[in-house]
Amino acid sequence: MSLSLTFYGGAGEIGGNKILLQEKGAKIYLDFGEEFNFGEEYFWEYLQPRSANGLEVYFEFGLVPQVPKLYSKRMLERTKLKYRKPDVDGVLISHIHSDHTGHLPFLDEGIPIHMGHGTHKIAEIYRKLYPSFFTLGEHESIRHFRSGERFGIRHLEVEPVHVEHSVPGAYGFVIGAGRGNIAYTGDFRMHGPRRDMSEEFVRKAADAQPVALLCEGTRMESEEGAHNYTEEEVEGKVSEIISKSRGMVFGYFSMSNMDRFMSFYRAAKENGRRLAIGTRLAYMVKEMREKVPVLPDVAKDGNIAVYFRLNKSCRFCEKDYKPWEREFMGNMATYEEMAKNPKGYVLHLNFNQLIELVYLQPKKADFIYSSSEHFLEGEGNEEEKKRWEAWMGHFGIKFHKAHCSGHASREDLQRVIEEINPEILIPVHTSKPEEFRKFHRNVKIPEKGKTMKI
Ligand SMILES: [Zn+2]
Ligand SMILES: [Zn+2]
Repeated sequence: MSLSLTFYGGAGEIGGNKILLQEKGAKIYLDFGEEFNFGEEYFWEYLQPRSANGLEVYFEFGLVPQVPKLYSKRMLERTKLKYRKPDVDGVLISHIHSDHTGHLPFLDEGIPIHMGHGTHKIAEIYRKLYPSFFTLGEHESIRHFRSGERFGIRHLEVEPVHVEHSVPGAYGFVIGAGRGNIAYTGDFRMHGPRRDMSEEFVRKAADAQPVALLCEGTRMESEEGAHNYTEEEVEGKVSEIISKSRGMVFGYFSMSNMDRFMSFYRAAKENGRRLAIGTRLAYMVKEMREKVPVLPDVAKDGNIAVYFRLNKSCRFCEKDYKPWEREFMGNMATYEEMAKNPKGYVLHLNFNQLIELVYLQPKKADFIYSSSEHFLEGEGNEEEKKRWEAWMGHFGIKFHKAHCSGHASREDLQRVIEEINPEILIPVHTSKPEEFRKFHRNVKIPEKGKTMKI
């Protein structure tokens, strides 16, 4: 009997990976994510399906596939799909990003979920920081793995191997099946401080001489020969902008991107400034320290300041803040101190925290945008962009960009494919799967909702 792969997501699109692998009665999913633009043709702002309604609205528009023996009883309650006991043996989660985990809450509680220790840790942090909107759903069995620790699911032998990505705790998998070995990259890059982890995955995948490699290709759409910015270059650019700034520097980067946090931390330090971060980011860094030892002790480190927003009536006193925020008060900076010494700080600022500028009253300030550019350049974001520009214009803030991707460049993808040299190459997590044909003689392009026999 052959091995089959069914692509419920991640085929011909960036993100939303949801790939069913079946062989000899064993059924596992590789990730269970939500597409980036999930449902946006029908829903916006306040027009949203109510989560209490389960899957009926999603089924109505064909946004979620009607697969039997997969979803929980509660999710199917008001749908025509009859609940039956699940026949899935497990779900392998490559990393925490929602395009890989977003639809986990739909699953039947009895299906075992396998995720790395790091991924579990980040999920715990999000649950604490955003209790009202972050969830991976209810699962009776969540099993945690570490890189290199093999485990079995029926006759399949799974080896998770860490990779470098824009979030800690990212993994690829090498799966030993009857048909041969199957390698799956998850999301990865090879141009940051832990590129050695991705190299290790590539070595292990190559040693396994896989019959198939499912390889992400987010950056296949970039131009051939385009410069591949490294994390070191981002740090250099951030440092240069800080060194030239005549006022306060603001920076925005994703909360879970610990490599970027370190780039800003070092760049601020080099220029004799403290990196000021909000209490949520402080909590994230504190909790991630056991997984990423290079991170500083944010409660004590002199190069860090924890920015406390003015709350309620009382002026920066304990009772205004949550218990987990209070432990950072020893390293607190307030808008008043920072406004007096603007050249002493680099402040991490989210879009929804721009109101702080009213208190800080920056002059001759700079803002470094250090995240993927969907927000500022994506279609349909014109309104946000206008508001953003209004804020920058009002305070006369100079805008800069310094970013590098969490995904491997075209050139790195080519090298990885050549090194692993699979029998069959299957592009996933890419809008340009046909580009992979330039790098391999036997590319099979998956189609959404269709099954591929190997
Ligand atoms: Zn992804
Ligand atoms: Zn990702």
